[in-house]
Amino acid sequence: MAEIASTPSPAALPLLIDGARRPAEVQETLPVVEPATGRTLALVPRGGEREVDLAVRAAARAFPAWRDVPVPERAQVLFRYKAVLEREWEALAISVARENGKLLDDARNEVRRGIEVVDFACGMPTLAQGRTALGIARGIDSHTWRVPIGPMAGICPFNFPAMIPLWMFPIAIAAGNTFVLKPSERTPLTGLRLAELFLEAGLPPGVLNVVHGAREAVDALLDHPLVRGVSFVGSEGVARHVYARAAASGKRVQAMAGAKNHLLVLPDADLDLTVAAVMGSAYGAAGQRCLAGSVLVPVGKAAEPLLERLSAQARATRVGDPFAEDSAMGPVIREDARARVRRYIEDGVREGAALLVDGRETGTAADGTFIGPTLFDRVSPDSALAREEIFGPLLASVRADTVEEAVALANRSRFGNAASVFTTSGRAAAYFRRNVEAGMIGVNVGVAAPMAFFPFAGWKSSFYGDLHATGEDAVRFYTETRVVIERW
Ligand code: NAD
Repeated sequence: MAEIASTPSPAALPLLIDGARRPAEVQETLPVVEPATGRTLALVPRGGEREVDLAVRAAARAFPAWRDVPVPERAQVLFRYKAVLEREWEALAISVARENGKLLDDARNEVRRGIEVVDFACGMPTLAQGRTALGIARGIDSHTWRVPIGPMAGICPFNFPAMIPLWMFPIAIAAGNTFVLKPSERTPLTGLRLAELFLEAGLPPGVLNVVHGAREAVDALLDHPLVRGVSFVGSEGVARHVYARAAASGKRVQAMAGAKNHLLVLPDADLDLTVAAVMGSAYGAAGQRCLAGSVLVPVGKAAEPLLERLSAQARATRVGDPFAEDSAMGPVIREDARARVRRYIEDGVREGAALLVDGRETGTAADGTFIGPTLFDRVSPDSALAREEIFGPLLASVRADTVEEAVALANRSRFGNAASVFTTSGRAAAYFRRNVEAGMIGVNVGVAAPMAFFPFAGWKSSFYGDLHATGEDAVRFYTETRVVIERW
């Protein structure tokens, strides 16, 4: 990756098909820009039907042989992959920090979370077991099996270039499927490297293929008759499109979508813990996480001391180079993302919300797309600031008088990815857990990220599908159930 970064005229990235790098046929490319510097790291081919067809056919050819590899042997390849990823952990983290702009330490954690999915997938001999009922009638036994499905596809967003691809292909492949990965065209370097490392660990050619591109490549995957299932992570509008279009050609589909996560803070909350957790949730990764808190709901007397502490910390946050030890926040992904945050700040001011910390004033000197932490108070619950996904370092505070009112406010959101409460009251926490409409719930935790052995996804407009990512849900998503009834 370092070599790619320092090349004066960057090369177009190869596809990975049938175990080999090969150039895309399409001539059009998109620049992969380093958000912290504005440098072009590489060019990514804008692949379409032709590139997708090559990759899917390779996956389809590899499927029968890979399906028949005994599951303990498949798991052995995963164990070797895990060892390779441990060896490459730092290099992968550098690649993530460079192409995404998140802090190096954050990138290390991201790669760690991804490796944990590989750990989980190593357990496939146990995870993919079926059940048996002996004697369902005289002399008749019945079994369920979990069988691989065929070529599956994964379509990824920019914000977790390592972890999100790793949510997908290790579990799919351990379960006996083959796979076509389409990384985000804005952060394709790490995904390609992850796939190459899997081959290095002994994965047979064609089991994991990589295509590059944007909308055209996605639509080609959704329409391809040999693709049996699609896992998508990205924004709400695209998730809806993916869900409908993949289903139209009979594929199974899970589409993890956008978010507007509420952080409720009660007056009895531990202030030190809460401030640290809210800062991390709202401004970590420059707010570009689907689990980022973006609406703060201080209840009653919680508001004044909380907002005072948050304002001071947000103002003091050092925004800068993701590789510098003293940076506390990196850039957002592209100029359009920064412009979007600025627009929301202008709208908020126009609508009369109180701008406590203005991110437009920090981190604008460098060439990168920096914008500092922004904090609004007294935001109207009906405003765009409070309702739309901004996906940047902007926290909007909407005050409430009671926990019931705060939960009702959170539930007005069309999204339901995650929600957190900060309190020392068991009763209030129980009320929140039971009544808030979100898939992932934090109690005194600002980023409610499930471990790899739990399912990951939201509710409402944050998720389209049935089976969530990772955990038992992913094993079910990547296998078909077969029932066998036998008499001897
Ligand atoms: P995005 O929707 O722009 O892109 C995601 C993928 O869709 C990319 O691979 C892109 O090439 C493709 N794509 C983009 N536009 C398309 C179109 N019109 N037709 C077909 N394909 C298209 O998302 P992003 O900006 O890369 O990622 C950020 C979004 O992802 C946020 O909304 C965030 O909340 C969401 N996200 C959700 C989760 C979750 O688990 N719910 C996790 C991470 C990110």
